[in-house]
Amino acid sequence: MIEILPWHRDAWRRLSGSAATLHHGQVLSGVSGVGKREFSIALAQRLLCRNPHDQVPCGNCQDCKLFNAGTHPDFHVITSEYEASEGRIELVARYCDRYQDSVARGKKVNPSQVIPVDQIRTLIERFYQSSHISESRVALILPADRMNANAANALLKLLEEPPSGAFFLLVTNQPGLLPSTIRSRCVMEPLPGPTQEQAKDWLSAQLKGVDPNMFLNAASAGPIDLLAAYQTGELQQQLEQTAQITLLLGGQSDPIELAALLAKQDAVLLLTWMHRILSDLLKWQGAGQEPAWVGDSSLDIGRYSPAKLFRLYDKLGRYRLMARDQINLQLALEEILISFQQSFRTYG
Ligand SMILES: [Zn+2]
Repeated sequence: MIEILPWHRDAWRRLSGSAATLHHGQVLSGVSGVGKREFSIALAQRLLCRNPHDQVPCGNCQDCKLFNAGTHPDFHVITSEYEASEGRIELVARYCDRYQDSVARGKKVNPSQVIPVDQIRTLIERFYQSSHISESRVALILPADRMNANAANALLKLLEEPPSGAFFLLVTNQPGLLPSTIRSRCVMEPLPGPTQEQAKDWLSAQLKGVDPNMFLNAASAGPIDLLAAYQTGELQQQLEQTAQITLLLGGQSDPIELAALLAKQDAVLLLTWMHRILSDLLKWQGAGQEPAWVGDSSLDIGRYSPAKLFRLYDKLGRYRLMARDQINLQLALEEILISFQQSFRTYG
């Protein structure tokens, strides 16, 4: 089974007790990179295992064997093409191909970030019609906030009249984007992130010989995202970009030139990273937690306008949504970086 992360043990104890008492709709939320997918997959296996010990799937029964082989007929993974091709969990990739044309997806330059209604329709058919080997059937919908309106409406019907033994695990880092009708039929289960100590310990255990302090200089992110960024080499790039942002904020670099440099990257990844930078600055302003990446630059958060920062944070959120479809990244970045720099001008 996928390991339960140390910071999710309480949530695991609460949710993995008994399939008979667990509410059929669960919204598992939490910031990106805290391990929501890992938790949900472990929970799905727990719900399907016929012989769990101490709330943990046994690993040996027919259900567990099929589950781990990626062939359990009662586990359904509904996701976007983007998640299917970019996601880091192989088991998810194997299951989602039952709902997607992997050949067509492979030919696309920009795989869709939306979960279309036809996947939910197929799920409904399979939940009601196909043969089952387990008493439970589990649908993992990930990221649930990427369902389009028709898909969400179709899912709502299933949530209102679930077939017996059905469980829906809706994973999202933006629960506020789920329709309120869906949220009201589910239990909201926020999954916490680690403490700084837990994150450091966990990263050191995963990356023997690497100084975990280097991660402190990245914009704060969940440890799973940080590990993935390290392994793909993105972390190094993010550290460099963070240094460039620090220069920009200090008025030592040009927003238009920086926009041109940054615009060569994947829009979603880049805007997510920028959102984290801004979130770190807001935390600094609101709670006095100075981000480590500020280093010994002379930034003084007290001199900048909280209202402007919040407006920029909202705007970035909207651009992140737009980036799922199409966005002129260069123009968006110019606008963001200019406002970013201006938010930091002293007033008075
Ligand atoms: Zn088992």
